[in-house]
Amino acid sequence: MSEQVKNLGFDSLCIHGGHKKDGNRGHLTPIYATSTYTFDSAEQAVDIFKGNEPGYVYGRFGNPTINEAEDKIALMEGYGLTDSTGAPLRLKAILHSSGMAAITTMLLGNLKAGDTIISHFSLYGGTQEMLDKILPNLGIKSVILDFRNTEKVEEAIKADSSIRMMYLETPSNPTIQCVDLAVLSAMGKQHGLIVCADNTFATPYLQQPFKYDVDYVMHSTTKFLNGHGTAIGGVLLGRDLEKMNTVITKTHRLLGGNSNGFDAFVLTNGLRTFGLRMERHCANAMQVARALQTHPGVQKVNYLGLEEHPDYAVAQKQMKHPGAMMSFELKGGYDAGVRFINKLKMCTSAVSLGTCDTLISHPASTTNVGVPREKRIAFGITDGLIRMSVGLENVEDIIEDLTQAIN
Ligand SMILES: *Cc1c(COP(=O)(O)O)cnc(C)c1O
Repeated sequence: MSEQVKNLGFDSLCIHGGHKKDGNRGHLTPIYATSTYTFDSAEQAVDIFKGNEPGYVYGRFGNPTINEAEDKIALMEGYGLTDSTGAPLRLKAILHSSGMAAITTMLLGNLKAGDTIISHFSLYGGTQEMLDKILPNLGIKSVILDFRNTEKVEEAIKADSSIRMMYLETPSNPTIQCVDLAVLSAMGKQHGLIVCADNTFATPYLQQPFKYDVDYVMHSTTKFLNGHGTAIGGVLLGRDLEKMNTVITKTHRLLGGNSNGFDAFVLTNGLRTFGLRMERHCANAMQVARALQTHPGVQKVNYLGLEEHPDYAVAQKQMKHPGAMMSFELKGGYDAGVRFINKLKMCTSAVSLGTCDTLISHPASTTNVGVPREKRIAFGITDGLIRMSVGLENVEDIIEDLTQAIN
């Protein structure tokens, strides 16, 4: 990376960061569709394997298309941050086939039987299932509590010496809760824990967990980073370069959750407009939230930009804007939720988030249909709750579509 690229503004970095000149003068880095790499001589093979000469070996270990996306995301996540010596913070990113693959590498690269994870009760569903159904078989337990009560978190850490990792995710579904990165990360570090943060909802544009000294950041790149819904992907970033280049790289390669040229190419393409998109996503979301708030058919709007949100102050403190995710409760309950989805004309009825189009789902009749009603409601998923990822359409069109569908 040249000095010039290091000093670029964020949007310029989105476009130019991580790019290396193509050997054939292609403007963009091509999709490397090759599983293996050739050697000019047996001696060169020895040098590349020993790490004395840079070079690609095998597709599962990475390729130039993948490296460009990794380096770009590493520059974004570390943008403007410094290390303990005051030098620009250097991060290593490893692209994966999915957000879950990146999380799996992070977990298995750091934990062993007998270790315990401490985390907040409102995690991404897949992560929660990983903690509940997969890790216990490997002897890794978890303690789940409300991270908004930081005193209780500290008590729990002190009471259990097997706790090795603090797992943060903020904001999180379904009511867009935030936990305090500065307070919790400092607490975790003070007690010698590995601290990691799933930054998918906020993205590096709105929030940089490395600012609070976390050890790892994970993203599902499927969401805002790709931004166009064209590929599943995930990234794991770490600040301990020695560990990232050894244990974590080894874990990534052996678990086999590697990305591929096509997915990396569409991700890099999406990242070029990332800063621009986030500004528009957030501006639209604020206006949509205000419009919904005054609608007679809406009971409640959960959006971090509204002062009524219980985590408004935390969001103001650690996020540049309140994001593009929100949920709202329809007064008419379950039936109103189903009716609303059926009446949408422009917005897309789908799970996931972070695409150009506004994505809307009714968890009670879709993602959480198999969950008993009381359990679902305890998690904040009420009968008439609608989850929305506000897109990049003209905001008047989004508001018009939502309004006609509620009526
Ligand atoms: C989607 C998501 C994941 C999982 O990512 P995949 O790319 O679907 O594997 C993890 N965390 C959060 C917060 C997510 O939204």
